[in-house]
Amino acid sequence: MARGAWDARVVTAERRTKIVATLGPATDDPRVLDAMLAAGVDTCRVNLSHGPIEGSLDRVAQVRAAAERAGRHISVLCDLPGPKVRTALFPGEGIDVKPGQRINLVDVGPGGPDTSDDSVIGIAMEGAVSLLQTGDIVGLGDGGVQLVVVEPGSDTTLVEVRSGGTLRGRPGVGLPEDRVPLTSPTVDDLAMLERLLEVGIEYVAVSFVQTAADVRAVQRAAGPGGPLVIAKVETQAAVDDLEAIVDAADGVMVARGDLGVRVPLEDVPHIQRRLIQVGVSYAKPVITATQMLESMITAPTPTRAEVTDVANAVSQGTSAVMLSAETAVGHDPVAVVAAMARIVRRAEQEFDNVAWGRRLGRQQQATFSEVTVGSKITSAITAAAWQASVDLEFAAIIACTRSGWTAKAISRFRPKCLLIGVTPSSRTARQLSLAWGVTPLAVAELATTDDIVWCAVEAAVEAGHVKQGDIVAVLAGNPLVAESMTDVLRIVPLQ
Ligand code: PEP
Repeated sequence: MARGAWDARVVTAERRTKIVATLGPATDDPRVLDAMLAAGVDTCRVNLSHGPIEGSLDRVAQVRAAAERAGRHISVLCDLPGPKVRTALFPGEGIDVKPGQRINLVDVGPGGPDTSDDSVIGIAMEGAVSLLQTGDIVGLGDGGVQLVVVEPGSDTTLVEVRSGGTLRGRPGVGLPEDRVPLTSPTVDDLAMLERLLEVGIEYVAVSFVQTAADVRAVQRAAGPGGPLVIAKVETQAAVDDLEAIVDAADGVMVARGDLGVRVPLEDVPHIQRRLIQVGVSYAKPVITATQMLESMITAPTPTRAEVTDVANAVSQGTSAVMLSAETAVGHDPVAVVAAMARIVRRAEQEFDNVAWGRRLGRQQQATFSEVTVGSKITSAITAAAWQASVDLEFAAIIACTRSGWTAKAISRFRPKCLLIGVTPSSRTARQLSLAWGVTPLAVAELATTDDIVWCAVEAAVEAGHVKQGDIVAVLAGNPLVAESMTDVLRIVPLQ
């Protein structure tokens, strides 16, 4: 098909891999946001790196209103900036820089510039300019533009463009890690989190995580009723400590933009594959992010390579795929979401759910099942439910879940049948919008496991998800046990 002939029809058929879309100036019109949800967005991401927090809180409120209009459980993921250094603003359409061009880097301190241009770039981190040494490489944006230090100085450092490109907005600055150490979360991150706790969001993403302790620091600050914590894997330190970080976090993001600046670029696809594997085996949602349909920021159709990249992430078993600038500042955010949904749906037709579940059944004995008695029981019973779903061709697996744990524990088997996450918590229902394959369904609070099971089946019938003649499986935990544990599997032929 010629690029211009791309069919951007909305794909309405059921899709299992979730879509995260980043909000920005291009999505501020409520009609655009409504159309994006209709085209398939499951989770809205608000990146706190750009502008004052008030603007981000407004966007959170816009999502709540749009989800209400759409009658859907949509989650909000707020992305904390972490110690990311940015340039002063490149106004308007930005500028092009070319190899060999010389530019001064200066501090955006008092008296420094508010904007950047093709002769002076402001760096928004006090003292960073003075730390640079001759020969250092400074990456801008997602590393496409590289500058080499020619003449360091205390206030002004002269650099030469090694690889060129377009600079717009306030691109991130990749400084040598050994000289400018990253610490996460920052004081500013925690102050922003406090504001987010006041409005209530489902997920908070932590940038530049290096260890599991960084994740736990944000979980402590978020508190028990606060947002679930997504660890963005974008440093070599995080890659080196992957399992501990996945274990500690509530979900992970393959943040390929910054990751590609901090590890050899050719390592990125392999880290992505490994992170998806580890994340799924720990029943943690994994988001594959950045430059998935980048060309659609301006073009009406994606490139072949982009379509292949999205399809590959789906085949690898990612829980969600993410759009960044494509929706936040792109020329047609709705068309990008529709394109993403279409590519995902097609890739899912090729996904071998049975082979996946079989492999996971073996794999889980090596990881997830070793943690506690509760997780061993959850592991065994979800494996049994998955096997029964293959043998008996269930119409649906209904996961009754307060925290979302039971639904995520069965989701990692990637069952072919419908997977319904039935919960008395509207917060959990929204959170489940990020879990692979889970259709969230909110129900009333009930006291006993028996009541929970029957009410869940009734709710699934009433919602039209299952019908008379179907066989369904119900997974549930004991509401009186504090530890997250799934210990009930009931198979119900619907009479
Ligand atoms: C990334 O680096 O890939 C990422 C998702 O983070 P940000 O958009 O904040 O750069």
